[in-house]
Amino acid sequence: MGWFRKVRRTLGSGERLDVPKGLWTKCDKCGEIIYRKELEAHFHICSKCGHHFRIGVPEYLAIVTDSGFVEEFDLRMKPKDPLGFVDSKKYTDRLKKQQRATKMLDAVRTGEVVIGGYRTVLAVLDFSFLGGSMGSVVGEKIARATRSATEQRLPLVIISASGGARMQEGIFSLMQLAKTSGRLAEHRQAGLAYISVMTHPTTGGVTASFAMLGDVNVAEPGALIGFAGPRVIKETIGEELPEGFQRSEFLLEHGFVDIIVPRSELKKTLITLLNHLIGEQGSATTAGSP
Ligand SMILES: [Zn+2]
Repeated sequence: MGWFRKVRRTLGSGERLDVPKGLWTKCDKCGEIIYRKELEAHFHICSKCGHHFRIGVPEYLAIVTDSGFVEEFDLRMKPKDPLGFVDSKKYTDRLKKQQRATKMLDAVRTGEVVIGGYRTVLAVLDFSFLGGSMGSVVGEKIARATRSATEQRLPLVIISASGGARMQEGIFSLMQLAKTSGRLAEHRQAGLAYISVMTHPTTGGVTASFAMLGDVNVAEPGALIGFAGPRVIKETIGEELPEGFQRSEFLLEHGFVDIIVPRSELKKTLITLLNHLIGEQGSATTAGSP
């Protein structure tokens, strides 16, 4: 009899081998297999190709703030279904499913935070909730957060990730574009700073309203940022689009974005910008049209 013997255990029906789930993950861009803990420790950026993995509100809070929300705003604001919208499913059923899966009531969280010692009002959109789409709740929470920043004379930072206006709320979603832009105009008229951070993807009604209205428009590397998607534009104009069209780097070159910042440098950059902009509040930021 040998020292070693293969022991083959037969699994009973319904029994599974106990392999911990999600220890490793694959980079969407380069295919590298990465240890999840390592990815988390490096701002969810691929160590091989620099691809920025999509992250949600808790991760951004951990990355950019000193200690999360000091006070979170409108915690209990819930979406309604003003149109009784049904496609392949009822909108109300979709909402319930998303709320259970994400533990959020809608696609944005807002509140007061501290960034490098600077009191700031922060809003973060979460793509995992119905594609970060902007319906009445997202618009209202952004508008209220902006007003709170204006009233307290605090700077505002919005981190966007969104497919655009929420089609299930129709015209009520489109109304949010004007409302959020109007509040930002008031914020600007009060001589206060607003920094917009656009992550992958920031498109549609969110780009057409608050995401592009920053005193400084920041983008993460490689993010898709635009109004209509590249496929729609290509089909409409019937022409091939240039290489890298609607990506952060292309937009920086063409003046739509002011700076591209890797996530690992985001907090440091926000602190530098806040330092400059707060120093100018009440004078330089009132110049020009909103
Ligand atoms: Zn990669």
